[in-house]
Amino acid sequence: MAEKLNPDTQTDGSEHLFSFGVIADIQYADLEDGYNFRGNRRRYYRHSLLHLQGAIEDWNKEGSMPCCVLQLGDIIDGYNAQHRASEASLERVMNTFHMLKVPVHHTWGNHEFYNFSRDFLTNSKLNTKFLEDRIVHHPETMPSESYYAYHFVPFPTFRFILLDAYDLSVLGIDQSSPKYQQCMKMLREHNPNVELNSPQGLCEPQFVQFNGGFSQEQLNWLNEVLTFSDTNQEKVVIVSHLPIYPEASDSVCLAWNYTDALAVIWSHKCVVCFLAGHTHDGGYSEDPFGVHHVNLEGVIETAPDSQAFGTVYVYPDKMILKGRGRVPDRIMNFKKEHF
Ligand SMILES: [Zn+2]
Repeated sequence: MAEKLNPDTQTDGSEHLFSFGVIADIQYADLEDGYNFRGNRRRYYRHSLLHLQGAIEDWNKEGSMPCCVLQLGDIIDGYNAQHRASEASLERVMNTFHMLKVPVHHTWGNHEFYNFSRDFLTNSKLNTKFLEDRIVHHPETMPSESYYAYHFVPFPTFRFILLDAYDLSVLGIDQSSPKYQQCMKMLREHNPNVELNSPQGLCEPQFVQFNGGFSQEQLNWLNEVLTFSDTNQEKVVIVSHLPIYPEASDSVCLAWNYTDALAVIWSHKCVVCFLAGHTHDGGYSEDPFGVHHVNLEGVIETAPDSQAFGTVYVYPDKMILKGRGRVPDRIMNFKKEHF
């Protein structure tokens, strides 16, 4: 077990520029503990709210406050839908988030769509697009309304981009819509199983119903924002519920067309980090282009005597993730051309 880092002593004397909080897969439900679908991981549905409370108390107490918190998706569990408790559970989690003294950016995962339609989410408190920053005179960097994605600048020359990993998906959309038909066709072309949540026998095991992907329209927009960031010497952190790098994730958890997203990111030099949830077990890898892929450990599978969240401290030449509980610390150096 690596010793825990102290971000104030790990920095060759330099102060961090800013920090931000990260938390993933809270999956709250007012239910007794259960297990994941493989039956090998305990899920603490009720305790997840206490984990969130503990995280918020810690962030609120930090000497220099984080600029914001990134909630990486699956905020309440799909079981809420069966118990007709979706709105009540969401309300409880959002009331807890109200204690946080800094803004929170919400990402949408599969469990959001088990509970709510996309239209509901768009009009809910889980839509934090009002926190976006717009780039004047660059309309090509404005996201379309057809997916839930935006970008913001928490500190000069650092841009964060929230991606919609369920832009292509059969979850949460009207089954009579052309987009549903198109996504179902894509899913069935890659997954002949009767149970579309099963990756059994697939050569591309990410093509399951609980995952989704990025439309070409969203990838084109991402490409435009990254072009702007390259031109302006910005560093970019990308946030998505689904991971996109196989070395950092179980292949069953990747976005459907993760290779398309990687191709866009790798054609730019500005991206330094890609943050995702969804895997629950966590994972990390630096890709050959120097992008650090971090999959955060999920709150829902974290025992009451542990924790699962982190604070990322950003320096001119690196970011340091200070993990709590089962989230390990990580030093993520920026590639040389970045500083
Ligand atoms: Zn998920």
